[in-house]
Amino acid sequence: QVRVRFAPSPTGPLHIGGVRTALFNYLFAKKHNGVFYIRIEDTDQTRFVPEAEAYIFEALEWLGIAPDETIGKNEKFGPYRQSERKEMYKEYADQLINSGWAYYAFDTAEALDAHRKQHEEQGKTFIYNWHNREKLDTSLVLSNEETEQRIANGETYVIRFKTPVNEILELKDIVRGDIKFDTNLLDDKVLFKSDGMPTYHLANIVDDHLMETSHVIRGEEWLPSMPLHHLLYKAFGWEAPEFAHLPLILKPVGNGKLSKRDGDKLGFPVFPLEWKTAEGISSGYREKGFFPEAVINFLALLGWNDGTEQEIFTLEELVEKFDLNRIHKAGAKFDPDKNKWFNHQYLQKQSDASLAESFKKDLADRNISTSLDLTKIVGMIKERAHFVNEFWDLADYFFEAPTSYDEKASKNWKEETPALMEQVISELNKMEDFTSMNIETLLKEWMTTKEIGMGKVMQPLRLSLVGALKGPHLFDIIEMIGKEETVKRIEKAIE
Ligand code: GLU
Repeated sequence: QVRVRFAPSPTGPLHIGGVRTALFNYLFAKKHNGVFYIRIEDTDQTRFVPEAEAYIFEALEWLGIAPDETIGKNEKFGPYRQSERKEMYKEYADQLINSGWAYYAFDTAEALDAHRKQHEEQGKTFIYNWHNREKLDTSLVLSNEETEQRIANGETYVIRFKTPVNEILELKDIVRGDIKFDTNLLDDKVLFKSDGMPTYHLANIVDDHLMETSHVIRGEEWLPSMPLHHLLYKAFGWEAPEFAHLPLILKPVGNGKLSKRDGDKLGFPVFPLEWKTAEGISSGYREKGFFPEAVINFLALLGWNDGTEQEIFTLEELVEKFDLNRIHKAGAKFDPDKNKWFNHQYLQKQSDASLAESFKKDLADRNISTSLDLTKIVGMIKERAHFVNEFWDLADYFFEAPTSYDEKASKNWKEETPALMEQVISELNKMEDFTSMNIETLLKEWMTTKEIGMGKVMQPLRLSLVGALKGPHLFDIIEMIGKEETVKRIEKAIE
């Protein structure tokens, strides 16, 4: 059975890259009728942020990709928070000590710094492994008695993995293909820390095994950990899951990985939901007015496509089409304008009635009460909008008469204009059936008979009603605001 996990560390808000990792795991699980579970990797107490966990769940819930199994939900392999599994990891570390795959190390931070310095002076980088083992303060050089004594004395120690020497590991990654790693270049990573907590590496492997993970789908930044993880599975005598490392998400301009700073600089969110701290607020896609479906859609295409030109996918379609073998190796450029384009597309797909509901809330926030048909108004303007929160700027003149007139457009206001507008008023006053079509027919008839150029009437008329030369079909606007309001606005303009 396919069992995949998203295993975030609650060190802050979930970055959009993390959301993509969660999404790809979700899609893969659903595609194969498997299980998508979430495990919270909170063993690094120094970087723990209490609000982060709830944020992660809220974000995935909003996006519609909630897990099948996690804290408080189908806890078949729980607990799903590593801090609550704490006691268990020590046994596994001990198991590796006993089998000779791990050892105690007593080096102090100062001693390690000194080693590092010494190497630097010789133009080398210090790697904590077989190159240096005989110079280090570890159970590899101490006698068993001394090791035991020092532990009994309460000296701080860590447990490190004993990386094998002179091996070339030939590993397979679903995205990257075959990759070779030289074990001589790996360092002996800490598995268990002096604070009684396992490190990410130990806890991650133990839990992926115990929680019966079939595939590890995660960001490319974890690729360098793959050889160690394979060696850990080997050391425990466990079968390793399959691995798929997702390509990096790159900055919209320039090179390198997308960062929070890019978002701040270019004015787009890098978080799904708003994140507030004492230092300030980081904006979120939800609060910016993105539809969750649009966010899912653009994230799915960051490093994957289905091999066709299709760009708009529902979540169901993504599940059906998703294929780990179609994930790209190259980094995926993050394109904020394209993201907005996706939202525009999803906005057009919403029903006018549901958009009108959202618009109504926005109007209420602005203290605008109206009896106008919002569904109809939304239908007239949505084509130009990327977000519901742009509706007001596109439609304000329906609700409020213009208080000023666009200066650039006022060149359309000529000497003869007031007289023409007077005539428009009397034409409008003649009308019984005040519908867009009727208004259009009658006004055009009048202009033709009187041989008045269209532009001479239409542009000043629009300026009088809207305040600028913008907006949908003029006769639709006139019908919507009604005869009385139309006349009032024209009179005000010619004052
Ligand atoms: N806790 C790790 C993270 O924060 C998980 C990496 C993995 O998926 O193995 O990304």
